[in-house]
Amino acid sequence: MQKYISATHAADNLPRSVDVVIIGAGPAGSAAAWALDRAQPGIRTLVVERAATVGAGSSRASLENFRTCWPCAPLARMMQRSVHVIMNADDTLGAGARDTLHPKQQGYLWCAFDERQAANFRADVAHLQGMGIDVVSYLDGEEVAYRFPWLGKNVIAAKYDPTAGWLDSNALIGRFLAAASGAQVLLDAGDVRLRIEGSAVCGVETAAGFIATPRVVLAAGAWSVEIGRAANIRIPLELRPRQSFTTGWRHDAFPEDAPMLIGSAPFPHVRPEARSGAIFGWEYRWHRKHAKGEGLGTPFKASVHDEHGDTHTPDDAIESPVANLDALKDPRFPSITLALLARQFGDLPGNGFADGRYMRSIYHNIGYYVYRDATTAYRTNADGSRTPYESERAILDAHPDVAGLFLSIAHVGHGVMSAPAAGEIIAAKVLGQPLPDPIFADFGINVPWVAHDENAL
Ligand SMILES: Cc1cc2nc3c(=O)[nH]c(=O)nc-3n(C[C@H](O)[C@H](O)[C@H](O)COP(=O)(O)OP(=O)(O)OC[C@H]3O[C@@H](n4cnc5c(N)ncnc54)[C@H](O)[C@@H]3O)c2cc1C
Repeated sequence: MQKYISATHAADNLPRSVDVVIIGAGPAGSAAAWALDRAQPGIRTLVVERAATVGAGSSRASLENFRTCWPCAPLARMMQRSVHVIMNADDTLGAGARDTLHPKQQGYLWCAFDERQAANFRADVAHLQGMGIDVVSYLDGEEVAYRFPWLGKNVIAAKYDPTAGWLDSNALIGRFLAAASGAQVLLDAGDVRLRIEGSAVCGVETAAGFIATPRVVLAAGAWSVEIGRAANIRIPLELRPRQSFTTGWRHDAFPEDAPMLIGSAPFPHVRPEARSGAIFGWEYRWHRKHAKGEGLGTPFKASVHDEHGDTHTPDDAIESPVANLDALKDPRFPSITLALLARQFGDLPGNGFADGRYMRSIYHNIGYYVYRDATTAYRTNADGSRTPYESERAILDAHPDVAGLFLSIAHVGHGVMSAPAAGEIIAAKVLGQPLPDPIFADFGINVPWVAHDENAL
C-alpha cells in the first residue's frame, strides 16, 4: 500500500471509500490515525492534507515543548499519558521511534524575581503535589544558585519540573503516520470539504475527487472553522495568533543542557535550540491598531456594546484564519521578548539576553493558538449569567448535530505534547469504545468549565 499519495499526480492509487477520513495531517490528525489503528488494527483511514507536506499548520511555529505538570486534572492526565508514549515511543510507534523523536528532558524552570512570585510558586507546587504530581518542586534561592549558577542573582526562587522537555514535532507526526498500518495520506488535497446528507457525514470532497466514508475526524486546526462553515456547521472556536522565533546564536552563560526558562508575567520563555541557538516565545497579545497588511482584512472581533452602554473591545481573538498570517507578525516581537528577558534576568546592555548578537540571526514564526469559544468555555455565575474564559481544554468529541463527524480541535498551545492522548481519546469516540480514562469526558464539547482550566503556564 502506498503511504503518501499526492492529489497532483498518481491519485489513481487513492481509495474511493474508507472507514474513516481524517482532515488535517498535523499533530492531532496524525495521532488520530495512529490511535485508530492501535484500537482497531487494519482499519482503513485516509488522512487528507491540504498542503504538500504533513505538519503544515501551527506546529511549524511550535516550541515543541512538553511537560506533565498541569494544574487542571484532565490536562494533567492527558499529558502524563502523552509523555509516557513519547518517552517510550519504541513500544507504540515502532522500533527506533524514540531516537527519531529526539526527546530532551532538560526540564522547565519557572523563575521568581520577588517574594510574591515565590509565594505563588509555593502554592502552585503544593497544588500540583496534592494532585499527585510529585515531579515538580519548589527551589529556594540557594538551591537555584547551586543547580543553575549561570542564572544570575535576580532569580530568588523557582518552580522546577525536571521531567519536562522538548522533541521533534515533525518526527512525531511522521512516526504516528508510519505506525498507522492501515492509513494512507493524501497530500495536496486542496480545500477539503465535508459532504453531508441529511444530518450525517457521507464523505469528503478533495482535489482528487470524492472519498466516501461514514466517519470523519476534523483535525484541521484553525482551518476547521472554515471547513465547518462551508458545510453550514458551526465549529465553536476562536483563534489567537501567537509568535515564536529562533536564533542561531545563544550567549555563553546559557548552556546547551539548560532547562526551558520561564520569566514572570507576561511569561517570556526561552530554551536552547540545537547546539548554538535558542527558541523564544510568549503569549504576546496583538494591539489591533498595529494589525495592517495585505490579505489581512479586519480579522479581529468587533467591539460589543453591553446593556449599560459600555463598550467592550475583545482581545486579540479572531474568528477565521486570515489569508496572510505573516502580516500578523509584529516585527518588534523578537526585540520586545529579548528586552523583557534581559530586564527580568538583570542583563545589562551587551550582555546575556541584551547581547545584540541575538538580533543578527532571527527566524520569526507565527501560528494560531486555537481555543474553545465563548459558547463552549464559560463559568456560570450565581445569577445564571455566563462569563466566558480562555480554556486550555481541547474539544475531543462527536459533533452534537452531525452524525459521523468527530472533532479533535482547540489544542491551544499544547497540541504537540498532548497529541498521543488526544489521538486515543478521539479514536475511542469514533469507534464507540470506552474512554481510556473517564476523566477525559471533560474534553466534551458540552463541558463548559472544569477547575484550573486556564492560565496554565
Ligand atoms: C508560537 C507557538 C508555539 C507553540 N508551542 C508549543 C509547544 O511548545 N508545545 C506544544 O505542545 N504545542 C505548542 N504549540 C501549539 C501546537 O503547535 C498546536 O496546538 C498544534 O499544532 C495543533 O495541532 P493540530 O493538528 O490541531 O493543528 P495544526 O498543527 O494547525 O495542523 C492542522 C493541519 O491541517 C491542515 N489543513 C488545514 N486546512 C485544511 C483543509 N481544508 N483540508 C485538509 N487539511 C487542512 C494544515 O495544513 C495542517 O497540516 C505552539 C503553537 C504556536 C503557534
